[in-house]
Amino acid sequence: MNNNGFIVYIIGTTAAGKTNLSLNLGIDNYEIISCDSMQIYKEANIMTAKATAAEQAIKKHHGIDLLDLQSEGFNRKQWNNMAIQKIEELQSKAKIPVLVGGTHYYIESILFNQETEDKQMIQVAELNLNGKEPYQFLNEIDPLAAEKFHPNDHRRIINSIKFYQTTGQLPSEQLDHHSDQCKLRSNNFLILWPKWKKSEDLKMKVTERINEMLDQGGIEEILRIFEILHNNQNQVGGVLQSIGYRQFNKLYQYYKESGLQFPNVDDKFQELLKEGTERLINDTMAYTKKQIQWIKNRILCNSKIDIIANRLFLLEFESTQTFKEQVVIPAQKIYSLFCQLSQDDKLGDEQFKISSQKLENILTITPQMIEKYKQTQKLKSRTNWKKQVCKLCNKTMNGPFEIEQHFKSRYHKLNLLKDAKLQNKKQKID
Ligand SMILES: [Zn+2]
Repeated sequence: MNNNGFIVYIIGTTAAGKTNLSLNLGIDNYEIISCDSMQIYKEANIMTAKATAAEQAIKKHHGIDLLDLQSEGFNRKQWNNMAIQKIEELQSKAKIPVLVGGTHYYIESILFNQETEDKQMIQVAELNLNGKEPYQFLNEIDPLAAEKFHPNDHRRIINSIKFYQTTGQLPSEQLDHHSDQCKLRSNNFLILWPKWKKSEDLKMKVTERINEMLDQGGIEEILRIFEILHNNQNQVGGVLQSIGYRQFNKLYQYYKESGLQFPNVDDKFQELLKEGTERLINDTMAYTKKQIQWIKNRILCNSKIDIIANRLFLLEFESTQTFKEQVVIPAQKIYSLFCQLSQDDKLGDEQFKISSQKLENILTITPQMIEKYKQTQKLKSRTNWKKQVCKLCNKTMNGPFEIEQHFKSRYHKLNLLKDAKLQNKKQKID
């Protein structure tokens, strides 16, 4: 890949207007590459919020409709190969690739040069572990670091040991300063981040959008996709693992058993539909929190501060009515400025900075803001290292945040219920 080729990323949560923005960047020399692990599937159109035929007619889209429903999906490497090929293809036609989507481990594979991380992986055999398992070895030299990792997270465990053996420093100390772990592939990029100002408004939008999708053919799509995969029992169907379909498993089971013919349904169907919809809204909201955490932890905290501060633009908006004024127009201004700078070969420079005059009243993320966020994250990560076990579910969690999430989970609540029933029975027997 041409590392000096200019790339634009549009990142952010679900329902934050990424598609809308991607179709309205202004200068017309770009094409869109979708970075979404669901939109790669054919036939999964409505519930994945894939660009509609009309939207695809406005702008050419890549990275969608690549796999059959029966497929297990792409891993990071497979997706990365596809995307790099597309990027090169567009750049050879002097088009700017605009990468749009919410599947962040896809975006990460382009934004950061992860080959170095993978290379380290090969050298495992060269480590001197005194005949011990890597996790055990790490636990002996640095229990604090071992606490942090899952015992199966081989890549990070091995990397930590290697770090210890080459530098003599403790990996847990390195975790606190891991800013150099991720190397940006190039400096020649722009990131646009549209974001709802208030999370209550995002929740309202998510709810509204999910209801719209279901009303506009989503239910039929869900039933049809389950049906196709049901008839291919040997196939896994990665699409069912993702948010948008799996929440309606019970609905489909009932539909199948009852012999109903959509749209002629009964009360029970409506009830299960409502249940699935609520679950989908909750899962989507939980996912949006993860998406924001990823942007903050991986992009803001893990890249060189000055570079990222001058290339990432947070565009907050208050409502769909103000989206154009608060997101589209500022983004167009930034985009055209960057296109010009890229043509003049200015973006690759690490020292590059846009004068505030040129940005007029567009607010930018300052290095100070990132530094401050990094500090709080550092504190958080230290206190978050303590592991705790939920005896009821026999599950191990990292720190208070994960524990809190677990107690709210359906899995835990179900076990609570089972446990209560068991106690009840025991009492009756006694
Ligand atoms: Zn539990």
